[in-house]
Amino acid sequence: MMTRAVLVLVLLATSVHAAPVLEACPAEIRRASDTLGQIFRQWPLRATGDPIDSALQAVASQLAERAGESTHRRWRTHVVRDSKLNAFSIGDGHIFVTEGMLRFVTSEDELAALLAHEFGHHIAGHFCQTNEPSGFFSHLFGRGEAPEEQRQVGELSASIDSTKEREADRIGVIILKRGGYNPRAAILLAARMAASGTPAHFQYGQRIEALRKLMTGVPHTAWVTNDSAPFTRLQDALRAEVGSS
Ligand SMILES: [Zn+2]
Repeated sequence: MMTRAVLVLVLLATSVHAAPVLEACPAEIRRASDTLGQIFRQWPLRATGDPIDSALQAVASQLAERAGESTHRRWRTHVVRDSKLNAFSIGDGHIFVTEGMLRFVTSEDELAALLAHEFGHHIAGHFCQTNEPSGFFSHLFGRGEAPEEQRQVGELSASIDSTKEREADRIGVIILKRGGYNPRAAILLAARMAASGTPAHFQYGQRIEALRKLMTGVPHTAWVTNDSAPFTRLQDALRAEVGSS
């Protein structure tokens, strides 16, 4: 209870754009359910219980547990069978990560940074807001008529506003600190994605600059979180598949 109260205070102090919404609102749950149905019908996802899918779910649950974020929401991860680098959320705790992204992260800290950012979008209440432009998710499903195009993972980045991205980054850093992960991994991941030519969530330069400002008091010394059992399981499952294909 105490830690949650502290988080709310921290969020209120750091967020001028929206009050934190710890639980999903009814409109969010409804929209997420509709979007989820559409994604399940149109996208190539890993089945629930698949080794990579279940290991990612375990990593996310552990992050939520360590950061004290496991009681107010059920976090559910989904793995998209796509080699592009992408991760996004649709509300009500649903987070999508592409296989390309899972292979791209080099440490548990980086994966935690990615997931914590997505937690941040939820906690900031971004999916509760009703003023989303219509078709907010339409780009996720591709505009083409051909089935191949519809199955493509769309470019979520272009239509997301930078204010929300920065807010998700701010909350993500708080979550990383509370969970005992190295928050500087968020900067490292953003820098590596920028260098890889991945389309930006928003301008990487500004994003990295804003992230740097959140690192007050975080040491520069090497700090790598020891790989947890779920993360090791995820790495093994990813490697096993490369080996067998
Ligand atoms: Zn984002």
